[in-house]
Amino acid sequence: MENLMEKVVALCKRRGFVYPGSEIYGGLSNSWDYGPAGTLLKNNIKNLWWRRFVQMRDDIVGLDATVILNPKVWEASGHVANFVDPLIECETCHERVRADKLELKEEHEKKHKNDGKEAKWTEAKMFNLMFKTNIGSAEDTSYTAYLRPETAQAIFVDFKNIIDTTRVRVPFGVAQIGKAFRNEITPGNFIFRVREFEQMEIEFFIAPPKSEAEWQDAFELWRKAVLSWISDDLGLKSEKIHEFDVPDKDRAHYSKKTIDFMYEYPFGQEELYGLAYRTDFDLKNHQEMSGQNLQYRDPITGETYIPHVIEPSFGVDRSILAVLIDAYTEEENRVVLKLSPKVAPYKAAVFPLVANKPELLEKARAVYDCLKQDYMIAWDDRGNIGKRYLSQDELGTPFCITVDYASLEDGTVTVRDRDTMQQERIAIDKLASYIKNVL
Ligand code: ATP
Repeated sequence: MENLMEKVVALCKRRGFVYPGSEIYGGLSNSWDYGPAGTLLKNNIKNLWWRRFVQMRDDIVGLDATVILNPKVWEASGHVANFVDPLIECETCHERVRADKLELKEEHEKKHKNDGKEAKWTEAKMFNLMFKTNIGSAEDTSYTAYLRPETAQAIFVDFKNIIDTTRVRVPFGVAQIGKAFRNEITPGNFIFRVREFEQMEIEFFIAPPKSEAEWQDAFELWRKAVLSWISDDLGLKSEKIHEFDVPDKDRAHYSKKTIDFMYEYPFGQEELYGLAYRTDFDLKNHQEMSGQNLQYRDPITGETYIPHVIEPSFGVDRSILAVLIDAYTEEENRVVLKLSPKVAPYKAAVFPLVANKPELLEKARAVYDCLKQDYMIAWDDRGNIGKRYLSQDELGTPFCITVDYASLEDGTVTVRDRDTMQQERIAIDKLASYIKNVL
């Protein structure tokens, strides 16, 4: 589909999914706010993730740590030394790009060539992506701290507290959802690469593997778990997902194996999620830097060791973008977001056939108030029904429920399906179970 990105960005604004950040002040480049529909979509994704990986499992517990940690954390983790991207600057216009993003470099050179100019680049410099901030009010005692560039580290920092205060036993995991910040050199592609984003991460601790096969088996279980999440909860088309085994030279400093789960975005195949075997790198370094004993003692065998870690890392914003792109559909007379009902902002919309008949209004309101107890439900009594359908189609609402004159007689309503546009009559007291069934 031509200009798919532009169309999705326009729909996001039009229907309240995503707005440009700070817009009334002329915006702030590459910052985006989630509007009413976008907030619902985002919360649904985070809740589904939490349900799948924490609520439904006995071996994963949750954590919600601070964004600003003791700066020593980032020394121990290697981020102060290694969380860098190579940066080059155009000598003509001083724009900076990531030296390893060849397509951005070429695009920039082409732009200058069209103006009859040459694009010469400076030597690559390493640029640390962590956002710095200052803690403390007095000049002489204030110190530099960082906004976390990943949620993972706090899980290692709290590891000892978690094993001391809960009944977890290796193998077990700790899950966390929260904001992360990276001063990206070349942010862009809407919410794909931003400087402030959300991650959903799990550190899954295993006993030090006695053979390659042992950690590979654990890794394989997680590879499958990530794929199940993508298909069963997000509902993404599986043919758009590709796995990329990251070669040695491109892996993060802590990783012995990484698989990137790539999605076919309109701007190319790019990383949606990552899965990494981080070995015992993090806990070992934190033990050394903090001087605290971070060993785990197996309560049955009495063995003590530093566990190894498999880490699946999920970007919330990249999930949202993939879900929107995947769902965007143009049909003859409408645009429709064919979202999986699980992630759809509203599970149904309720309409009175006309707004100026008090009996209809009252009945429709009663249906709305009842369904609202369990689901996010939209209400619309403006304009004609056709227009109301079209606006719900763009929001991805799976069902539109219309209360009409027959409803007053026989207690049934019309339910119109978003994808097939077929309508059927359903008894009002069956609506809740009807919605529950598709979820
Ligand atoms: P990339 O290679 O695209 O920069 P990365 O390999 O640095 O990504 P990770 O460090 O593995 O990313 O981060 C884990 C996840 O966090 C990514 O898979 C992605 O979903 C998300 N993520 C990372 N950086 C950003 C960003 N700048 N904006 C939005 N999401 C991000």
